[in-house]
Amino acid sequence: MIGVDIGTTSTKAVLFNEKGEAVCRHGVEYPLHTPAPGTAEQDPEEIFRAVIKAIKEVTLQTKEKISFVSFSSAMHSLILVDENDQPLTQSITWADNRSADWAVKIKKEHNGMEIYRRTGTPIHPMSPLVKLAWLNAEHNELFRKAKKFISIKEFIFHRLFGEYVVDYSIASATGMFNLENLDWDEEALKVAGVTGNQLSKPVSTTESLTELKTEYTEMLGLPAETPFIIGASDGVLSNLGVNAIEPGVVAVTIGTSGAIRAVTDRPVTDPKGRIFCYALTDKHWVIGGPVNNGGMIFRWVRDELASAEVEVAKRLGKDPYEVLTDIADKVEPGSEGLIFHPYMAGERAPLWNAKARGSFFGLGMHHKKEHMIRAVLEGIVMNLYSVLLALEEMIGSPTRVQATGGFARSELWRQMLADIFDQEVEVPESFESSCLGAIVLGMYGQGTLDSLEEVKTMVGSVHSHQPDEKATEAYRRLMPIFIRLPRLLESEYDVISAYQEERSRL
Ligand code: ADP
Repeated sequence: MIGVDIGTTSTKAVLFNEKGEAVCRHGVEYPLHTPAPGTAEQDPEEIFRAVIKAIKEVTLQTKEKISFVSFSSAMHSLILVDENDQPLTQSITWADNRSADWAVKIKKEHNGMEIYRRTGTPIHPMSPLVKLAWLNAEHNELFRKAKKFISIKEFIFHRLFGEYVVDYSIASATGMFNLENLDWDEEALKVAGVTGNQLSKPVSTTESLTELKTEYTEMLGLPAETPFIIGASDGVLSNLGVNAIEPGVVAVTIGTSGAIRAVTDRPVTDPKGRIFCYALTDKHWVIGGPVNNGGMIFRWVRDELASAEVEVAKRLGKDPYEVLTDIADKVEPGSEGLIFHPYMAGERAPLWNAKARGSFFGLGMHHKKEHMIRAVLEGIVMNLYSVLLALEEMIGSPTRVQATGGFARSELWRQMLADIFDQEVEVPESFESSCLGAIVLGMYGQGTLDSLEEVKTMVGSVHSHQPDEKATEAYRRLMPIFIRLPRLLESEYDVISAYQEERSRL
């Protein structure tokens, strides 16, 4: 079985044996083009070539018959294609913010909150709904040339099979898909300025396509009858791939960005509009919040504030992150009353405010650099905890936390998660969790697994952390301040970000 994950930085293909063990993998990287402020695009042709290469490289490494290929992909991408199925635009990614004014407009003037409640995608420039409204209004000539409006996965499936199909999961992240009817939402389509037949046909995430076009059978080293399972989005498949599938289990990811997610058995949305709801299957829904400010803030500390520590790490032959976390470990939980808000890249959940900015609060003469380093690590986790509080209003307290992402390499940071969440934390062994999720979904769809819960036999668990009473007590006292401050600062975020924008234009 091959799991393919079409991500924002690379496409990875992983070959799994029948027990769900990864046998070999191949990744192909590509750039994210950011030529102007707010623009974040990728070349769909380059991604298509990467998908072909990644699959081909793993099929070359096995003589066994491939049972199926199953797909994960990033959410929210948008490509306009013409009469001849050629792309008219690049793939406009989730990170593209050019439609920001339209998000505000849709919320205020086009019944945005109601649309969110039916579609599960917060009204934000990440979503294709908002991007389409913007393109329709501001690039209408281009917009009118388009025959179809599709995502990167639809582009790839069309190339391979000549059909425009979209899985419920990717569809549910467009902001235009009605979660109850499992079909396009008429009111959302009107706001976007498109009709249902300009979009792909929504199909179940276990849908399998065969009859691969002849030109690709040889190229991929796969017979035409090999089932290609359409699969789901990377976020929901990552929950499956880390065994956070049972009710009450929460998956926390801190990679470059971060997310917190849980599975429910029906679509659930948030009366306050803070939480997304995306499909995994028609019986499994993933609700949660994405945060912009994850590990990239720690990377910023390493690159901008820690040249001496990076130098020491080099001399010791250690990873600089390890030296920095060792330094942070010398400081008591709570950083002696120093609080850090990580909102350096604006924030999605829980604030949904692109104008939010980072800050240290509570600095005293007793604070040293090590307090600042620790406060940064704590602030990133406290922010995720504040997203969990919103999620808890819908699903109750979690029974278990499964942690993944680059941060999980640090014992200190994992323990911090257990202490701030006041919850046992487990770190499953599975890496490339979206690829594992994709093949588990594929096995379920093909009838080789009775239930998705069987993933638990495939993930393993490497570390387990219990909350420490004393640390938990410190965080319990600081958390209310952490949550109150951004609310108090809301109007100041507007002023300071306007000032920064003005300066950047000079
Ligand atoms: P991506 O989201 O791009 O896949 P990763 O999941 O690899 O990224 O996470 C990268 C982040 O993980 C880095 O920005 C850093 O904050 C964190 N990280 C990586 N290694 C360590 C480590 N040894 N200790 C602490 N944090 C680490």
